[in-house]
Amino acid sequence: MSEDYRSMWDELGLDPAAHDALLGVLGKAYQEIYLAQKNRPQGMEYFDFVMSEVHGLRIRELLDEKKAGRKIIGSYCVFVPEEIVLAAGATLVGLCSGADFATEEVEKLLPRNTCALIKSAFGFKIGKVCPYLESADMVVGENTCDGKKKAYESLGQLVENLYVMDLPQVKSEVGRSLLRSEYIRFQAAVEKLTGVKITAKSLKDAIDTVNAKRSAIHRLSSLRRANPAPISGLDALLANQVFFYDNPARFTESVNRICDELEKRIADKGGVFPDKTPRILVSGCPQAVPNWKLPMIVETSGAVIVGEESCVGERGARNPTDDSGETVEELLDAIVERYFQVDCAIFTPNRDRVDHILEMVDAYRADGVIHYGLQFCQPYLMESIPVEKELEAKNIPCLRIETDYSMEDVGQLKTRVEAFIEQLS
Ligand code: SF4
Ligand code: SF4
Repeated sequence: MSEDYRSMWDELGLDPAAHDALLGVLGKAYQEIYLAQKNRPQGMEYFDFVMSEVHGLRIRELLDEKKAGRKIIGSYCVFVPEEIVLAAGATLVGLCSGADFATEEVEKLLPRNTCALIKSAFGFKIGKVCPYLESADMVVGENTCDGKKKAYESLGQLVENLYVMDLPQVKSEVGRSLLRSEYIRFQAAVEKLTGVKITAKSLKDAIDTVNAKRSAIHRLSSLRRANPAPISGLDALLANQVFFYDNPARFTESVNRICDELEKRIADKGGVFPDKTPRILVSGCPQAVPNWKLPMIVETSGAVIVGEESCVGERGARNPTDDSGETVEELLDAIVERYFQVDCAIFTPNRDRVDHILEMVDAYRADGVIHYGLQFCQPYLMESIPVEKELEAKNIPCLRIETDYSMEDVGQLKTRVEAFIEQLS
């Protein structure tokens, strides 16, 4: 790493030794998991570059934006509308929470039986290893599951610019109007932070930018319907992960370039794995960077992942926002409609999610579903039981796994996954 980056990290207040350790682990994992793959699309070189510069060049860009007066907003959930942030001239970055850090310290603030994602958010703050978090002028938490809701009360002691957004739990008229009023409150908070008043034009432009990004990632997903699969689940997951922190226009262009390449590959009947490789849909909790554990296990066990029913995947990226409104109010209504369709397991009842899983099995020609639940995540673990029942009733094999970010259970999970794949072939 260049000295220039070191002084940038120092200015952000990162802990040099802890940060070096994190980058070391990340680089090694990337090398062993990603670069060891075969037949990768050439366009993935862009993502290799992004990952090699994840705490370097992208942070430099964000800091340059800040110098030019732009604000950076960090978020932990797909319910934080990027459209509003962009329309107010700010930049949204996802705060990944995909690795364990400073666990001992975290467990002094949170019960041990808290999901890995929440613990990770605390660990990155306590360990002073996340330049995205330290660059943010505002960090948005959201009242989704009980774990996050209560954890934000404690996180607020560590992150002074934490803004908490309330969210509905029921898809009713009351729920919709709560979401609307919270988005209006958020709009006012972002406008206050940036000093920029959102106009119909800026909101429409922002909707179009985010729609283009979603449409590119959706195009990539659609190409995974082909048999043989033209891209690995690992690579597609990486694109879905980078979705949250890259520059939106550059991301859109890079994903579309990969799609052009994949279209040629499909026309030539080329694939990343041989024809008839068992096809898996992964459904459940988000897999944030650098959580590549499950796809690594699946794709080194003789199967390919063809879709993610997840917030880092289709649950988060599907459904464009209608941009036909002419006033801020109409466009905001369209944003509310779009986000109100997100079928996170915090909603009750949540029939849409089961229907979407069935639709995805069909569309991506999946032979089976692996339900991915993070240990101690009540919403998704509870929902995994009815999901499994519905799938089994339709003769779709389902494997429910419950895990965390540690590598201790990899051997045991691999044995279960291999037995499941055997049953599909
Ligand atoms: S799973 Fe729910 S809480 Fe988590 S990012 Fe998705 S919408 Fe937000
Ligand atoms: S994984 Fe589950 S418990 Fe953890 S933050 Fe998400 S919904 Fe909450």
